[in-house]
Amino acid sequence: MSTDQYKARMQRKKAHIDSRIEEANINKGIIVLLTGNGKGKSSSALGMICRALGYGMKIGIAKFLKGVQDTGEDAFLAKQTNVQTAFMKTGFTWDTQDKAYDTAMAVETWQKAQSYLKDESIDLVVLDELTYMISYKYLDEQIILDALNNRPSNQHVVITGRAATDGLIEIANTVSEVKDIKHAFRENIKAQKGIDL
Ligand code: ATP
Ligand code: MG
Repeated sequence: MSTDQYKARMQRKKAHIDSRIEEANINKGIIVLLTGNGKGKSSSALGMICRALGYGMKIGIAKFLKGVQDTGEDAFLAKQTNVQTAFMKTGFTWDTQDKAYDTAMAVETWQKAQSYLKDESIDLVVLDELTYMISYKYLDEQIILDALNNRPSNQHVVITGRAATDGLIEIANTVSEVKDIKHAFRENIKAQKGIDL
């Protein structure tokens, strides 16, 4: 390609992108859904929390399926004055094997999440690992969809977890599937501080 052809091609590309950017002039709260089997869903949510904190935005985080280990981000978030958290008080269901207890803990965490979704002062709500609460039937999908639909119009929501339901995919504005190609775990490398927890 000659220099002139290259220049013409880039000018057309710029005109196209500029017109698309101009068309995208709506400002509103969006739902971002991060699903799939690969690594990177919760850490992506943390990246958005970090961005929002940089603007002094207020954040509510509900973490469903809290593991037994504390993570680096829990320690970091506890120091942030603009962050409120609700962590589910149970480990994984295959550890506890008590459906009634797990359901009660899920409902307790959801009630806090729901209060964030009603709070106009909260700019970003993160519902980490929410998808499992629906697939294990700890929480009713329709109640969740109603709360998302009725939230303040400028409030953003980030939802993470494998195997998102069709209802969540439909209500979300941005949906990404993180695909598992390789994971260090399969080389018998244990979860590493700063990377996995
Ligand atoms: P992260 O929190 O690291 O962004 P994630 O939220 O995408 O991961 P989860 O399904 O919540 O993934 O699992 C959390 C933990 O499991 C992390 O330590 C992560 O490295 C690990 N993990 C994620 N995907 C895989 C996988 N495909 N195989 C094994 N372990 C995984
Ligand atoms: Mg996760």
